[in-house]
Amino acid sequence: MAVRVLPDFLVNQIAAGEVVENAASVVKELVENALDAGANQIVIDVVDGGRTSITVVDNGRGMNRDDLAKSIMRHATSKLPDDDLTNIAYMGFRGEALPSIASVANMTIDTYASGEPNGWQLNASTGEIKPSNWDSGTRIRVNDLFANVPARLKFLRGDRAEMMSVLDVVKRLAMARRDVGFVLNNKWFFPKNQDLLERMAAVMGDDIRGRMLAVDAKSESGDMTLSGFISEPTLRRASSVDQFLFVNNRPVKDKVVVGALRAAYMDVMHAREFPLCALFLDLNPKNVDVNVSPAKTEVHFLEPSHVRAFIIKNLRARLAETMNMAVARHDTPVGHQMNIPAAQNRESVYQNTDVRPTILSVHAPQRDDNDFFNLKPHKFESPRMDASIKNNVDDAFCDMPLGRAIGQIGDKYILASAGDNLIIVDQHAAHERITYERVRTHSVKVQPLLTPIVVDMRAEDVAAVLEIRDELKQSGLVLDAFGDTAIAIFEKPADWDLNWTALLHDIADEVRANGHSVQLNERLHLKLANWACHHSVRAGQRLDLNQMNALLRDIEKTTRGAQCNHGRPVYKIIPISDLDIIFERS
Ligand code: ADP
Ligand code: MG
Repeated sequence: MAVRVLPDFLVNQIAAGEVVENAASVVKELVENALDAGANQIVIDVVDGGRTSITVVDNGRGMNRDDLAKSIMRHATSKLPDDDLTNIAYMGFRGEALPSIASVANMTIDTYASGEPNGWQLNASTGEIKPSNWDSGTRIRVNDLFANVPARLKFLRGDRAEMMSVLDVVKRLAMARRDVGFVLNNKWFFPKNQDLLERMAAVMGDDIRGRMLAVDAKSESGDMTLSGFISEPTLRRASSVDQFLFVNNRPVKDKVVVGALRAAYMDVMHAREFPLCALFLDLNPKNVDVNVSPAKTEVHFLEPSHVRAFIIKNLRARLAETMNMAVARHDTPVGHQMNIPAAQNRESVYQNTDVRPTILSVHAPQRDDNDFFNLKPHKFESPRMDASIKNNVDDAFCDMPLGRAIGQIGDKYILASAGDNLIIVDQHAAHERITYERVRTHSVKVQPLLTPIVVDMRAEDVAAVLEIRDELKQSGLVLDAFGDTAIAIFEKPADWDLNWTALLHDIADEVRANGHSVQLNERLHLKLANWACHHSVRAGQRLDLNQMNALLRDIEKTTRGAQCNHGRPVYKIIPISDLDIIFERS
């Protein structure tokens, strides 16, 4: 096959595959360009999750006619005047964004630069430029994203989900540039010249006020600084949506930094919970490459372990300070409060400052929950054995994987023999699993509420919760938007009282981060597991052989019967070869 130099439109579409993934990446590129053009006010409008149109208007320097024509040419940039690739004064310099976007959508640019007789309008599809009455800054309109690339169009998620990604991008840039004002869809406002804490409240929500800890650290050699805020351990989210990390003031989602943050909180937060932060790591540009990926969210540190250790050490120290304070607040003798390592403090801090997640309140039901599942606890039914079976006991059990019960030990374990195997069953774990699986297949009983529960939330959180409305309904939670900034719950699982506000916020966090949420189902799971646990035979209950055999048969029929609801084993199989080893027969 002959070697072929690809035509420009194809080259651009290929580049677009890296640069333009979705609406959010278009917004990111356009806003970065506006910032590079010196704008301090940027207005963004996104219609139908970006599918129909994306418009970014800025009050930056604009372009003259010549630059406008060049701006959509590949590898055309005004940002590398001296061939120095470590130049990081600008957000971009690959000169790929505009031609890439133009290759996968209809793009129009209106712009005005001082010195020009008038503004100019460029139609990127035709390359045509004509005079316009645009008289300040630049407006870029992107219509019908991916209309000419059906394969990419298919990968766009629902409008709401795309919109949430756009919001996330805008928030990250707004957090980096507090000097600049951002307006998104006339709904989200991040005014210019906010200080960091104000910006954080605008971006993360008002609940952070008074609960963030300032961080300000410098490495010993003076080559690195870390500044910003992290949340005290009692303030956390169900996902990483409110973790804002910057390397040399660029928003990143870098593994090294994220990992260090997680490690710093390890002793004070459950693995499934996420601290909030706005953290700015600054280091000599020589020690980091911020342009590894076209999207520029990953970075390469020259010495990643050095960076990691620096972050962990300083965040831990900051957290330890507050924990000593927390302990001091709660009746620990003053003489003990200093120099207590964080890990040792953990339990007392949990108890005293309510760090435990609400999920644990479900763990200890106060009353009988029969009503919730609408069914009776499982009872053993001893199989009746007629004489012919009794005569042929071993035959009757020979096909049963868990075999025939031969007795009970400590009123806790059932011993059984199956072929050449000895089986030991934890009777409580076994019954718990059986009950759980049985309960699980029953649908939850739903209770309509006379007065709906109204939960105030940010518009983005409302959108996120609605994303999975159908799923929630299946779990017994029926809700809908209540205006732009609240959710109304109309029906809930009967007999189940939870902190619904907290739950909905956790769900929103998770949906925004992962596109789905396991919060409600997990809690349901816990509740089921508890119910099963409370209605299962206990350790310490004496069983007759018939009951034991009935239990064995039930485990065999149960899905995932080998583990209890808490992950402990239900039974162990000890092959006769192991017994031979014990008795030194082999
Ligand atoms: P890069 O940002 O890497 O230079 P782009 O394709 O994003 O590449 O943009 C190409 C050029 O178009 C930029 O270098 C800049 O000169 C010009 N440009 C793009 N957007 C704007 C804007 N909003 N205001 C002024 N100039 C712009
Ligand atoms: Mg650019």
